[in-house]
Amino acid sequence: MLIGVPLETSQGESRVALTPETAKKLIAQGHTLRVQSGAGLAASVTDAAYQAVGVDVVDAAGALGAELVLKVRPPSEAELAHVRAGAVVVGMLNPFDAEGLQRMAAANVTGFALEAAPRTTRAQSMDVLSSQANIAGYKAVVMAANAYQRFFPMLMTAAGTVKAAKVVVLGVGVAGLQAIATAKRLGATIEASDVRPSVKEQVESLGAKFIDVPYETAEEKEAAEGVGGYARPMPASWLERQKVEVAKRVAAADVVITTALIPGRAAPTLVTEEMVAAMKPGSVIVDLAAGRGANGVGGNCPLTETDQVVQKHGVTLIGHSNLPALVAADASQLYARNVLDFLKLILPKDEGLKIDLEDDIVAACLVTRDGKVTKP
Ligand code: NAD
Repeated sequence: MLIGVPLETSQGESRVALTPETAKKLIAQGHTLRVQSGAGLAASVTDAAYQAVGVDVVDAAGALGAELVLKVRPPSEAELAHVRAGAVVVGMLNPFDAEGLQRMAAANVTGFALEAAPRTTRAQSMDVLSSQANIAGYKAVVMAANAYQRFFPMLMTAAGTVKAAKVVVLGVGVAGLQAIATAKRLGATIEASDVRPSVKEQVESLGAKFIDVPYETAEEKEAAEGVGGYARPMPASWLERQKVEVAKRVAAADVVITTALIPGRAAPTLVTEEMVAAMKPGSVIVDLAAGRGANGVGGNCPLTETDQVVQKHGVTLIGHSNLPALVAADASQLYARNVLDFLKLILPKDEGLKIDLEDDIVAACLVTRDGKVTKP
């Protein structure tokens, strides 16, 4: 099969869906690979590195005109103009963007959105949400440490003792757990909150303290269980009590990392303006939900400005909406491996393209086919 990989054109996107490592494996399986010149440069992969493993370096139209196109972000209208009818596009195609899916369907593209893969053991090696969230959690702490005007670790020096930074992590999925682990490695003391009770043990095993907000009603308990491992919106009664507990911790914190998301919905507000105003001057908030608040504004904090670093009430708010792109080389390496593992399902050895809807991962990821959006 002819497989093409274009240069990503979304603002700030520096990742690439193919690395020389994954290209080599696909070529060994008999596929022909084309990559757009410069597609890997922002992720430290040169054209020569692709050519060395047998990839043809072509222009945008050449890469987009393949039978199978590997992407990081959904194809733009301009990109779709070069994608041939009936071609397959695999990427993070944003299954919640009805308009984008409609555009792909109208172009008669078969789309596989990798974010829609189930959170099962078999799907783990192709779980792009996890591979990228892990990087975001790490980078969030590194950025916080960079913006923070004090040390993270406790230090005893001849010139006196420096206290360890207090870090609060709100939302402990994949990104939150990595944020805790990274802050711990830097020597901070950490407290964390999540709606899902199963998280407590994971937080404690990383040496952080869980902010307990007990469930008082059957409704609260049921909502907290979530669905498929994901959070559901919590009842207002619980959120009110969580707010009180979180507000106390945030006021005492030096650094707050927020990562709370609910798939397909606006990110919950966890740090209000009032809470920011109560923080110490010089504190830092990194909002991983930037751009995902109500109507795409704000994040877990309404003061967050998407893709900006701003100062409000003496607090630095970091609102990068694509942290994995700032660790482009490793993010691409892990993403490309996720893509390669998914391709094993639709390009079985010695067979052509096979879309087996009996396979739960293939069926879950399929978003457009035969001119139609297959996912509501
Ligand atoms: P996510 O990015 O969707 O959300 C981040 C976190 O925010 C979640 O832990 C969520 O519970 C939390 N959250 C939502 N609303 C909140 C609120 N009001 N207050 C505090 N926290 C709130 O999550 P994710 O990283 O994609 O992980 C979701 C789940 O999937 C986790 O349980 C994770 O362990 C699980 N998972 C399973 C697999 C697998 O089995 N293969 C792979 C990856 C992740």
